[in-house]
Amino acid sequence: MSTVLDGLELVDHHCHGIVRTELDRPAFEGLLTEGDGPGPLHGSHFDTQMGMGVRAICAPLLDLPRFAGVDDYLARRAELGADEVARRMLSGTGITDYLVDTGFRPDQLTSPTALAAYTGAAGHEIVRLEAVAEQLIVTTTAQGFAAALRSELAERSTTAAGFKSVAAYRIGLDLDPQRPTDDEVASAAGRWLESLDPAAPPSLADPTLIRFLIWTAVDLGGPLQFHVGYGDSDVDMHRCDPLLLTPLLRATAGLNVPVMLLHNYPFHRSAGYLAQVFDHVFVDVGLTMHNTGSRSGPILAELLELAPFGSVLFSSDAFGLAEIYAINAVIFRRGLAAFLDDGIAQDYWSSADAERIALMIGTTNARRAYRLDQPDR
Ligand SMILES: [Zn+2]
Repeated sequence: MSTVLDGLELVDHHCHGIVRTELDRPAFEGLLTEGDGPGPLHGSHFDTQMGMGVRAICAPLLDLPRFAGVDDYLARRAELGADEVARRMLSGTGITDYLVDTGFRPDQLTSPTALAAYTGAAGHEIVRLEAVAEQLIVTTTAQGFAAALRSELAERSTTAAGFKSVAAYRIGLDLDPQRPTDDEVASAAGRWLESLDPAAPPSLADPTLIRFLIWTAVDLGGPLQFHVGYGDSDVDMHRCDPLLLTPLLRATAGLNVPVMLLHNYPFHRSAGYLAQVFDHVFVDVGLTMHNTGSRSGPILAELLELAPFGSVLFSSDAFGLAEIYAINAVIFRRGLAAFLDDGIAQDYWSSADAERIALMIGTTNARRAYRLDQPDR
C-alpha cells in the first residue's frame, strides 16, 4: 500500500498557521510540545517523539543527514530562512486544502491564504466561535448580543469552511443539549459584561453563551468542530471525554450538520464509537500523530477499530512549525499503509478496497463533510 499512500492527496481538516520569524532554540522547543516549553527538569524537548520526528523526517528536507544534531538543524534552518523552510516542509505533504483555525494567536501566525500559497494549495478558514463572541461582547449590549452574534456568524459563514468550539477548554464537554432562549442569552451576556476586567482580554466561560454559539453554528449548517481530549495545560482532560458530548450529539443528529471531534486521544476509541452510532460525527487523531511518533500507527489503527471508514479524517493539527506538517503527513501515510496492509494480509479486504479507503480518509470524506466542492467554498 505504501506506493499508493505516497501519492495520496490530503485534505488537512484541522490545522493552524506557522510562525514566519526566526526561532531560537528555546522558542523552537516551545513549539514541540503542548506544554509551556522547556523547563529546568525534563531536559530538551528534542528528546520527545516529536523532536525525534524533526531529526528523522525534516533534517533531510534541509539537505542534512537523517538524525542530524539539533544545533546543526537549527543553524541550517536559520540559514535558509523561515519561508524557504516552510516551502520545503509543505511541498512534499500532498496537502491540497488547509482548513485553518484562525482563532488562536492569529497575529503571530500565517493566514489560511498565506499558508496555502507556499504550495499553491487552497486555504480555508475555520471560525472559532468563542473568539468571535469575545470580540463582539465589548461592542454590544446584553440585549443586543444574540442578534449581533447571529449576524456576525452568518456573515463569516459565507466564506468560512466551518466553525470550531473550544468549550472543552472553557467549561468541559458535559454540555446541556438544550438550545437557550434569547432571554437566557441576554441575562448571561449581561453577567459577562458586568464581570469583564478592562485590564484583561475577554474570555468566554459561560455555559449558556457557549451553548448559544454552538446552536447558532448548527443553525447555519456547520460543519462544527469540537476540541476533544488531549491539548495544552489549560485543558482539564477529565472534562474532555467525547462521551460527555453524547446528549448534544443526540440532539443534533438528523439535522445534516457534520460534527467533527478533533484530536480525541486518549479517548479515541470512544470517539470511534460515537462516529459509529451517529452518522453526522467525524473523527481524527491528528494532534496525536506527531506527539506519539513511533507509536502513532497503532493509535490510528485503534481509531479505525469502530469508526466507519467514511467518518475518519486527516488532520495535521500543525501549529507554529512547518515541520509538523511534514512529520504528520509522513507518519499518517505510514500508519494508514500499515493498517490497510494488515487487513490485506488477513484477507479481510482486497487491495482495491484498501485503495478506496485510503482515498476516503485522505480526501473524499473531508470534501463531502465540508462541502469543499460546492462553488461558494
Ligand atoms: Zn489544533
